[in-house]
Amino acid sequence: LRKAVIAGNWKMNKTRPEAKALIEELKPLVADAGCDVVICVPYTNLETALELTKGTNIGVGAENCHWAKSGAFTGEISADMLAEMGVQYVVIGHSERRQYFGETDVTVNKRVRAALDAGLTVILCVGELLEQREQGVTEEIVGMQTKIALQGVSEKELKKIIIAYEPVWAIGTGKTATADQADEVNGCIRGVIAKLYGKAAADAVTVQYGGSMNAGNAEELLNKEHVDGGLIGGASLKAPDFAAIVKAAS
Ligand code: 13P
Repeated sequence: LRKAVIAGNWKMNKTRPEAKALIEELKPLVADAGCDVVICVPYTNLETALELTKGTNIGVGAENCHWAKSGAFTGEISADMLAEMGVQYVVIGHSERRQYFGETDVTVNKRVRAALDAGLTVILCVGELLEQREQGVTEEIVGMQTKIALQGVSEKELKKIIIAYEPVWAIGTGKTATADQADEVNGCIRGVIAKLYGKAAADAVTVQYGGSMNAGNAEELLNKEHVDGGLIGGASLKAPDFAAIVKAAS
């Protein structure tokens, strides 16, 4: 059976005092979780998050990393820098990076490579735009994003990859994919993994859903065969809401 992973993606939210308050509130609420719990936070909150979650069941992730080990890349953070701090996860290829910061499938692949080389677990985001869904090319788009992102990734390394299906039209819009839509695309992604790595690897890979997942709709989504967890934006900024989603996955 696949392990469910509920990950919060805080995006560009929370100063350090706000982060501290949220994590302190969250800790007791998810202490008995029956799934993996991760919070992906802004770089400036990583140290705080690592300190406050020490000895707990909450994993800590960053929201991006650069592909180079070091060098003249002003404003960037390397995967090695994250790993050295004790960060375990990193979100790569989020649609907001693709939309606003020129991220492409090729740069996503480079970042995935670097993150794996540093020993990080990758939360790889894929997902179609509304126009693409309306044109009926969702599966092609998501399949291509997945294939390119995983170029050069071995079957062994795949164990350190979590895939998050996040339809762009559902992110921050309050418009959730239906449980059937999420299950269908997540199943397609699993099919792509089966073609690339074989059935056993596909059966084992965690495929999350993300996009307006909340305390009210989590259970129905998470009950689907191919939905192995969630990547949570807005609802991860409130401890009771995030904890309710963790509970739904447990
Ligand atoms: P929302 O949950 O706010 O829609 O964001 C989803 C997301 O982008 C998580 O990475």
